[in-house]
Amino acid sequence: MERLRNDLKRAGIRAENECPLCRYSSFRIGGCAKLALFPKNREEMIACLDGVRRHGVPHLIIGNASNVVFSDRGFDGAVIFTTAWKELTVVGTRIRVGAGASLSAIANAAQRASLGGAEFLYGIPGTLGGAVFMNAGAFGGCMADICQKSEYYDLRTGETAVLCGEAQEFSNRTSIYEKHPHYTVLGAELVLQKGNPTEICARMRDYTERRRRTQPLEFPSAGSVFKRPEGYFAGKLIEDCGLKGTRVGGAEVSVKHAGFIVNRGGATAEDVRCLCELIRARVLAQTGVTLECEIRFL
Ligand SMILES: Cc1cc2nc3c(=O)[nH]c(=O)nc-3n(C[C@H](O)[C@H](O)[C@H](O)COP(=O)(O)OP(=O)(O)OC[C@H]3O[C@@H](n4cnc5c(N)ncnc54)[C@H](O)[C@@H]3O)c2cc1C
Repeated sequence: MERLRNDLKRAGIRAENECPLCRYSSFRIGGCAKLALFPKNREEMIACLDGVRRHGVPHLIIGNASNVVFSDRGFDGAVIFTTAWKELTVVGTRIRVGAGASLSAIANAAQRASLGGAEFLYGIPGTLGGAVFMNAGAFGGCMADICQKSEYYDLRTGETAVLCGEAQEFSNRTSIYEKHPHYTVLGAELVLQKGNPTEICARMRDYTERRRRTQPLEFPSAGSVFKRPEGYFAGKLIEDCGLKGTRVGGAEVSVKHAGFIVNRGGATAEDVRCLCELIRARVLAQTGVTLECEIRFL
């Protein structure tokens, strides 16, 4: 690990020892990572990936950590954060984006270029890489609708490749990248349509307002905890089971939106995991529906 750190530091890449993961997590949960790396462009990202591969260092690829629960014990390896790599280029009706670009920045760039179709991304607090990984979506749109191709780095071979259209296997909050943890998303090309910038802006404002009205944005969370079960809404099932406000330690089923678990102060990953299990058991017993976690415990 020390050799990896020194190699990457020599290449000018920001590297931090004993990095508190809670500082980067939207849930404000997690112990320390032995090493955290912050590549700021494609070249640095590939140097980090080559480095962990060559030195055989256990690693995690993390965007904005807005859909994950880091372990209370931290991570005994290298965490590669992509958020410093913000590359984004508009070419006609296409946007080429690096893994770390924020979803709101993509929506803003599209709006400025009079391109419609990316409005749903506005307000999702993740990165391109995280969104491709789990086919992020909102308000009827999802990455599958706009992500024409994505490029990845294969940690088994050290090579890069591109997947187009259906080969990305997007479905309900998942993609081929979840099935192949050795693939790291490097970037993607999004295809949008010409639109009216005032109408695009109005849709983005409407989505923001709806989020503010319905989601507990005042507390740390990782968004919706469970995937939407076919024919139901997870939040409604949880609410109907009388679970709003239920707590385990510092983790609470939000009273504003039962689909969210919020950190009311000092919540641990174990609190969140126990609360998830309690919710799943109660919803299954009372409704017969099995809930599947959308958030990822690392
Ligand atoms: C308040 C709030 C609201 C939210 N609203 C929504 C919503 O409306 N819709 C929605 O879909 N989600 C929502 N989310 C969840 C989250 O923002 C999205 O899932 C987002 O796409 C995650 O992106 P990220 O960069 O934070 O991913 P992370 O949390 O950093 O990572 C998630 C997973 O993706 C993997 N990953 C990240 N980057 C890469 C990469 N480059 N290559 C390969 N794997 C990678 C990680 O290893 C991890 O397994 C919300 C979250 C919060 C806190």
